[in-house]
Amino acid sequence: MPSQEYLKAQRSAPWREELRKTIKNKDRTQLTRVVMNSIDPVVRCQNYEEVNLGLTADQAMAEAQRCIDCANPTCITGCPVEINIPEFIKNIERGDFLEAAKVLKDTSALPAVCGRVCPQERQCESQCFYVQKLNKPAVAIGHLERFAADFERESGNIAIPDIEPANDIKVAVIGSGPAGLSFAGDMVKKGFDVTVFEALHELGGVLRYGIPEFRLPNHIVDTEIDVLAQMGVQFRTNCIIGKTISQEDLIEMGFKGIFVASGAGLPHFMHIPGENLNGVMSCNEYLTRINLMDAANPESDTPVFMGKKVAVIGGGNTAMDAVRTAKRLGAEKAMIVYRRSEEEMPARLEEVHHAKEEGIEFYTLHNPLKYEGDERFRVSRMLLQRMELGEPDASGRRRPLPVKGSTVWIDVDQVIVSVGVSPNPLIPSTFGGLEITDWGTIVVNSDTMQSACHDIYAGGDIVRGGATVILAMGDGRKAAKGMSEALLAN
Ligand SMILES: Cc1cc2nc3c(=O)[nH]c(=O)nc-3n(C[C@H](O)[C@H](O)[C@H](O)COP(=O)(O)OP(=O)(O)OC[C@H]3O[C@@H](n4cnc5c(N)ncnc54)[C@H](O)[C@@H]3O)c2cc1C
Repeated sequence: MPSQEYLKAQRSAPWREELRKTIKNKDRTQLTRVVMNSIDPVVRCQNYEEVNLGLTADQAMAEAQRCIDCANPTCITGCPVEINIPEFIKNIERGDFLEAAKVLKDTSALPAVCGRVCPQERQCESQCFYVQKLNKPAVAIGHLERFAADFERESGNIAIPDIEPANDIKVAVIGSGPAGLSFAGDMVKKGFDVTVFEALHELGGVLRYGIPEFRLPNHIVDTEIDVLAQMGVQFRTNCIIGKTISQEDLIEMGFKGIFVASGAGLPHFMHIPGENLNGVMSCNEYLTRINLMDAANPESDTPVFMGKKVAVIGGGNTAMDAVRTAKRLGAEKAMIVYRRSEEEMPARLEEVHHAKEEGIEFYTLHNPLKYEGDERFRVSRMLLQRMELGEPDASGRRRPLPVKGSTVWIDVDQVIVSVGVSPNPLIPSTFGGLEITDWGTIVVNSDTMQSACHDIYAGGDIVRGGATVILAMGDGRKAAKGMSEALLAN
């Protein structure tokens, strides 16, 4: 978090005083949260256009007026990359949108991405004064973040952050997802010579191959990566560390530090009868083939099957992305099957809301027991167990329990399984000196992200299992601080 002295100095800037005089805090709290426009659900189900349309400048300035510029801005503590939230919002309020974008980029390598996909309601916005003290909707921090980042990009005035003089120390990053990109951005700013190695032919990790265009357009990811490239980060695609290049090769190539950000892309299955039928597949396969391999195009080399009655098993963001994709690919009945209630769903609230608007059916408190197929071994129906909620389990959520004797058969022709992921195993199994948990995650010091091997740091999903973009980015920043201090001390 920025120091108290720094925050105090910024809050006493003369323009800040002017803003305070314009509207009294009491009046600010009476303003209603601005609603972002989105494409009509009927129209958007026919295409891949981005659903949310962003705020207009007037809407953004009106929403920014709701922020009362708290003396102790707790919203910052809810942000894993510690964006100076009041500072960027007050710049929006006075109409200096480029300055607002600059404040965002001081600590975040991917503001246009985070403004779109962060679960703000559980992070910065959950700590907002309005939620904490007034029981009112939080300031729309995520919408404002998106607005400032989009404004900067669309203005063509993309500022490249300041870079310290080169120190000629080479560091390698394994994986180009949000953890790797955030680490790379901070290290290049500190003068390090940074190379990001990516196994796939495209950069961005889940931002590219997981989250669909209708939620996060690829050109947004491209622009943010392009800024990193302009800052001096080098990218090498089609390079699988642990296969194409080994740990020893990296050391021989002169890399003094390695940041492992290889993510968690190994899908889980439920191991129930019929899961090996044609038409049952993992969510990772489904989304990756569509987003990265053009599989929704029937003319492509490896088109994906496009079901008419599609069940997606799970309640996270991944499940929402898959079910809404199936709808766009022509499913007449697209369903979410989730064993707990809607309240426990891990997906962002907005994704659930949009899915409902698009006509997705929700079978909450249902769990698949088995699938049956037709004579061609293609899935044709599923047996669901009705569930109820018991006492909270280790995750703090109420445990789902079967309702005895209560089952239902539902016809399906495609099932997409989205019940969790494990870390990609290649680095843990080929790199020496790491400590690995029973779940396949890399053990690190949580302050510095340093692993048991002193020159290897790790962060994001390879450390946490499946988590979120902003937590991965926070890890990247912590690792950059930890590794840079260690390397510069030598
Ligand atoms: C469909 C989907 C939707 C999601 N939606 C949201 C959302 O709305 N909001 C949110 O906050 N989170 C969301 N998440 C979770 C979030 O995307 C992840 O937590 C985050 O991307 C993790 O970042 P990461 O950098 O650790 O890994 P990743 O993004 O997985 O990136 C890892 C990268 O490393 C590469 N790699 C792996 N092994 C090697 C190797 N040996 N050599 C070289 N490269 C390698 C991979 O190809 C990949 O590009 C979603 C996840 C999915 C799958």
